[in-house]
Amino acid sequence: MLKNPPPFVSRYLDALPVDNEDAPVSRQVSGVCASRAQMRGFSDPQLIAWNPDLAGSLSLQDLFTNPGVAANVLCGNQLLPGMRPYAMRYGGHQFGHWAGQLGDGRAINLGELPDQRGRMQGLQLKGAGPTAYSRQGDGLAVLRSSLREYLCSAAMIALQIPSTRALSLVLTGEQVVRDMFYDGNPKLESGAVVCRVSESFIRFGHFELLAARHEFPLQRQLADFVIANHYAHIDQDPARRYQAWFHEICACSLQLVLDWQRVGFVHGVLNTDNMSILGETIDYGPYGWLEDYDPLWTPNTTDAAGRRYSFGNQPAIVHWNLAMLANALYQLIADRDFLEAEIAQFESDFQVRMTGLQLAKTGFCNWPWNAGEWQQLLQHAPVEEWVAFVLQTEELLKSRSTDYTIFYDLLADFNIGAAFGAGLDSAPDLAALHRHLADAFYDSDVDTATYNSRLQKWAETYARLSRRIGLEQPLRKRRMRQCNPRYVLRNYMAQEAIDLAETGDYSRIAELFQLLQKPYADQPAMHNRYCKKRPAWANSKPGCAMLSCSS
Ligand code: AMP
Ligand code: MG
Repeated sequence: MLKNPPPFVSRYLDALPVDNEDAPVSRQVSGVCASRAQMRGFSDPQLIAWNPDLAGSLSLQDLFTNPGVAANVLCGNQLLPGMRPYAMRYGGHQFGHWAGQLGDGRAINLGELPDQRGRMQGLQLKGAGPTAYSRQGDGLAVLRSSLREYLCSAAMIALQIPSTRALSLVLTGEQVVRDMFYDGNPKLESGAVVCRVSESFIRFGHFELLAARHEFPLQRQLADFVIANHYAHIDQDPARRYQAWFHEICACSLQLVLDWQRVGFVHGVLNTDNMSILGETIDYGPYGWLEDYDPLWTPNTTDAAGRRYSFGNQPAIVHWNLAMLANALYQLIADRDFLEAEIAQFESDFQVRMTGLQLAKTGFCNWPWNAGEWQQLLQHAPVEEWVAFVLQTEELLKSRSTDYTIFYDLLADFNIGAAFGAGLDSAPDLAALHRHLADAFYDSDVDTATYNSRLQKWAETYARLSRRIGLEQPLRKRRMRQCNPRYVLRNYMAQEAIDLAETGDYSRIAELFQLLQKPYADQPAMHNRYCKKRPAWANSKPGCAMLSCSS
């Protein structure tokens, strides 16, 4: 076994009231923040992927010297010293409606251990069996969705976007029934468990449920726990502590959604129970990556009618979710003006930073946004001109079917200033620009004259503003490469890895994991294969074009 079993602890269990009944019987629970859980156990678990860097940072590398032991520990068959399984109690707003008690219906927390920086990290098994919060569900997860979480959370971290992480992917050896599109076609699928890692899995919905149940002293206790353990730098006097905390939640949630917009990530189910109190990406379900630019695009079939969680709507939804959290914290903060001002501030900060983001994507400034750089840009041209350029860029992307990732990737290599800014007498090199961008377009039957005239006006504005601030191509390119990823986990890429894994071939999981570790870098050996548009066969294939919550 392990040479040095790490000392697992559970600060959450130690600090907060807990329901000690661990039977996996669905029920309403009150007065506690968690219920203890039993591990269901699986007959024949198999470790099919694990993250060595993350294992190393948790001093868990020895566990993986014996894959059989690792599989048993990471599906919950075997508990390491100190592990005390439990499920968290929370509620949430789902698709805009209060849903009451939800809770960890298929996630079981095992305990925490320190990483190499001394920060406590919790381990949570997703799909390891039912808990008190499973409602009608079985508490299980399938290979398809677990593999997607395993790869995408690693990709997100490599993109430098906060996220829960995934230590391992284990096949349970058992089959699970799923009706993938809720259309009366249930199938048997391979069961799987992901071991998630995060400093905290606490969600907005934790606080909402306690408010809805009028359990205000417990809500305060939980807020104190979160501040003491996860916002320890907040050193305001007690009267302003909760305000300072809420302010930070707004700030990190804003940063998170801007980063999603930057890379084209669409979460798919931004319910308040899927919003981390730390501003991390959490609960990978029917997420997707924007390919042809369309603000209304949603990967989630369940959301196809309302498009509540579409790409362009994500900032407004995060804003709405923060307003729900503000409501829930009203008793704690007891300052309506403050809460309203914070929610309003999110809106205005978002507008400025979204403009900053789009200017960073085109190389005018660096990302993340900083106020000093923004002020400098404003010295060269008034805000209206920058905003007009940003709108022009968006119109251009929308006016034909344009791949969001490839467009910026190609654009970084094209010297706009040289082609369009040489002087009034020289003709701009429109044909060269159009040729250069050709690989970003999905459509071929466009009205080229209209598109070209739009492209030309846009490129001229781009070149004029570049001249205005003295932006040279090397700096522009460097900034664009730092802001715009070349490699993202397109749905079809994940689906190919799933199709192979379902035949027992796990090599593609490893290949994509490697690729996505360096999303901004040139990877010549991988370039032709993965830095390209979605292939035509994927346009209508389930898992590539459509996803559901069923997982
Ligand atoms: P999600 O949409 O995945 O964030 O899940 C919403 C709620 O449903 C959470 O409380 C989950 O724990 C619960 N849930 C989802 N799938 C299952 C399942 N297969 N078994 C039990 N609970 C589930
Ligand atoms: Mg969830």
